[in-house]
Amino acid sequence: MSLIESTAAQLHRQLTSGNVTSVEVTQSFLDHIQQHDEHYSAFISLNVEAALAQAEDIDRRRASGKPVGALGGLPVAVKDVICTKGQTTTCGSKMLRDFVPPYDATVVCKLKQADGVLLGKTNMDEFAMGSSTENSAFGVTHNPWDRTCVPGGSSGGAAACVAARMAPLSVGTDTGGSIRQPAAFCGVTGMKPTYGRVSRFGLVAFASSLDQIGPIAQTAEDAALLLQALAGHDPNDSTSSSKPVPDFLRAINQPLVGLKIGVIREHFGEGLDDEVAAAVREAVHTYQALGATVSDISLPHNQYAIATYYVIAPSEASSNLARYDGVHYGFRANEAEILETLKQERDTATATNQEATGKELDSELIRMYQRTRSEGFGSEVQRRIMLGVYALSEGYASKYYLKALKVRRLIRQDFDKAFEKVDLIVGPTSPTPAYPIGDKIADPLSMYLGDLYTVSANLAGIAGISIPCGFSKTGLPIGLQLQAPAFEEERLLQAAHMFQQQTDWHTKRPSLKN
Ligand code: GLN
Repeated sequence: MSLIESTAAQLHRQLTSGNVTSVEVTQSFLDHIQQHDEHYSAFISLNVEAALAQAEDIDRRRASGKPVGALGGLPVAVKDVICTKGQTTTCGSKMLRDFVPPYDATVVCKLKQADGVLLGKTNMDEFAMGSSTENSAFGVTHNPWDRTCVPGGSSGGAAACVAARMAPLSVGTDTGGSIRQPAAFCGVTGMKPTYGRVSRFGLVAFASSLDQIGPIAQTAEDAALLLQALAGHDPNDSTSSSKPVPDFLRAINQPLVGLKIGVIREHFGEGLDDEVAAAVREAVHTYQALGATVSDISLPHNQYAIATYYVIAPSEASSNLARYDGVHYGFRANEAEILETLKQERDTATATNQEATGKELDSELIRMYQRTRSEGFGSEVQRRIMLGVYALSEGYASKYYLKALKVRRLIRQDFDKAFEKVDLIVGPTSPTPAYPIGDKIADPLSMYLGDLYTVSANLAGIAGISIPCGFSKTGLPIGLQLQAPAFEEERLLQAAHMFQQQTDWHTKRPSLKN
């Protein structure tokens, strides 16, 4: 098997036994990216020289018997919303197109310490807002299974690059489904860990109470390997948990005896594609055949999940994004143009408008803010900011934001109750497989409805994983979502691994067309 076709675990064994070098592995992925990515746009930037230098250093250490970290020289792609020192971190936005962070995010430090080779930064919806990667200022990412379709989002580049064998592992972020849904659309394995399992320090914030970093890989085993490197307490993130990190790789090989799974009644209702429903039911049968007991469960408040999420996430976003004002960071609208417009306005002003001149400085600044934010942010980000500012504004906050917080608690309580009866909850990751590029972009509401099954895990702060469980008649992958109580990532990975030992959906790869 060629290097790029191998799983991360296979490559890891080859690397540690000295059969291949990290330079060879890194170079094969870089070559593959350079050959194909112009047709997919999975990457925003590549790290060619630094990656090869890092790989060389790892090889040198291994050759001289010095210690090598747990990732052993495996290449890893990182979503472009995670800060990398000295390398642009654009968040898929014109606003930050030239932003070079002065520090590494905690997960990037951890990857480097574990000797993961940083391949490059992956494409995404602007500031992680979206479900299709069409909201990137750097072009749409194309689905490797069908180039005319979206790869999902917002971690579309991160999922597409693993599916297209441009990276064995990648790091994504999930605020309302952005790891799980693109993993489903691209036929790969993607996990949103429990809120607090992975440090968010150096992750550019979208909605701080929902954001979480997690692994995207070909298999549950590979996801376990990467999660091991990412997880753990970080004094720089007060929301990161100090719970000990289990040995995920060891856990996945333990049998899951007496597994009780719950199937969410409400997830098989209106809007669910027939082929997705059939594939998910088939997956449930596979678990039954493996000895799991299956029962129906109800999450009665799930019907409010989309509405709740689309109040809370934009509210937090409107506050987090206030810092992009043309002064602190990156993009600033053309000042000469602003001054020119102002000058023209003043020249045409009559003597009775003289008093306005006292406000000149002020208006220059306000104009600069306005133009910077209108030109620097794309339309979806502007829509979210408006939604958020509205939901938080005086007189409306109790009707929208505070109400949403209450419903959020009810959604969480539904999960608590369900987990008294079952160990895992299964259902579809997304109501449909990938759809054609352009299909939903003009209809935000239908795009938002696609997040129906994923946002509740973020609202509840629990863990979820998407694994491949079939294909549509047109050859597009279908994802199965497993959800577990907070800090039960081991159980999720075990159950996902168990499924992958029994099925071969996760081994299917698209053939790339140039
Ligand atoms: N699709 C959802 C949104 O647009 C989730 C995004 C995410 O998880 N980053 O907000």
